[in-house]
Amino acid sequence: MRYLVLADIHANLEAMDAVLADAPPFDEVLFLGDLVGYGPNPNEVADRLRSIPRMTAIVGNHDWAALGKLDTAEFNPLARQAAEWTATQMRPDVRAFLDVLEPVTGAHSMVMAHGSPRDPIWEYLESEFQGPASFASFQGPICLVGHTHVPRVFLDQPEGRTLVFDVREGDVLDLSTGRLIVNPGGVGQPRDGDPRAAYGLIDTDERSFTFYRVQYPVDVTQKKMLEAGLPEPLAARLELGI
Ligand code: ZN
Repeated sequence: MRYLVLADIHANLEAMDAVLADAPPFDEVLFLGDLVGYGPNPNEVADRLRSIPRMTAIVGNHDWAALGKLDTAEFNPLARQAAEWTATQMRPDVRAFLDVLEPVTGAHSMVMAHGSPRDPIWEYLESEFQGPASFASFQGPICLVGHTHVPRVFLDQPEGRTLVFDVREGDVLDLSTGRLIVNPGGVGQPRDGDPRAAYGLIDTDERSFTFYRVQYPVDVTQKKMLEAGLPEPLAARLELGI
């Protein structure tokens, strides 16, 4: 089986379409949450995702914020403004689609959690110090996460240590290496200084996870954001990949 792994699309239709056009052949899509928030096309990205015949999705903090299931007092003002705008835009069927998604799932002998297996909605998994508690919070060989929008790998080591490393385009991770937590990076708002959309592909026969990047027309997304009245800094950050 080949799984296309997507995270943090954030209503960025141009980035999502570029990824779907660029992706090698796959059997199924695994989506790690934050379909909406920040970007200008919440309904259109939901339509795209739902049109994929075999797809498993979880929900992220920005999806819950747009649904009113999470207090946006914890958000920065720009993210809050975008969440409020998104709430006014989502069609009832898109709300219903997101409303039934869970923040964590254990399908396919892989765990999917938006932030971390310990705290799927809020925790930003960034450092080796979060490793032991995170690996203790799920069963099985691999957990896929999003939320930080940074492609990064956590490898469980003996004696409660964790090896953390950032990955780049074209890197191939051997899934036989040990227990892993893997973040493919963000599709719709990358934050590792590279503005190109990030995604991954798992090949269960080859036991590999490959990291990909693809360019998309950032200017088109930015123009839509400004026309929609979304905050200017949210549009500006897209071309910087921050
Ligand atoms: Zn996100």
